[in-house]
Amino acid sequence: MSPHPVMIAGAALLTVCAAYAVYDRAWLPAFGLVHGAGLLAFWALGERAARRRALVMAQRAELAARPSPETPLAPHFQAELKYAWAELNSACCLSAVLSRHAEHDPTYCSRN
Ligand SMILES: [Zn+2]
Repeated sequence: MSPHPVMIAGAALLTVCAAYAVYDRAWLPAFGLVHGAGLLAFWALGERAARRRALVMAQRAELAARPSPETPLAPHFQAELKYAWAELNSACCLSAVLSRHAEHDPTYCSRN
């Protein structure tokens, strides 16, 4: 069990004690109890954040240790896909790509 719920419970107990001290008009103990409750609550929040950080780091380490998945495409198909994307990116319009630069779409292209 993580220690921060115990710290939160301690802070709550100190707050109740501070309320009793305020009821009895014992201001100095009340101030000390409120201060202690605040410190405990602050410490508990820090512990919770540290625990979460450790969990995230453990998950990242686990993911990094896993083998990388195989590529879904065969190498020759990847080369064809790369060529097709290069062709599409350098094309002026879709009609030019489909007709191997023989025809151009006058709606979108100025190379008629
Ligand atoms: Zn074109």
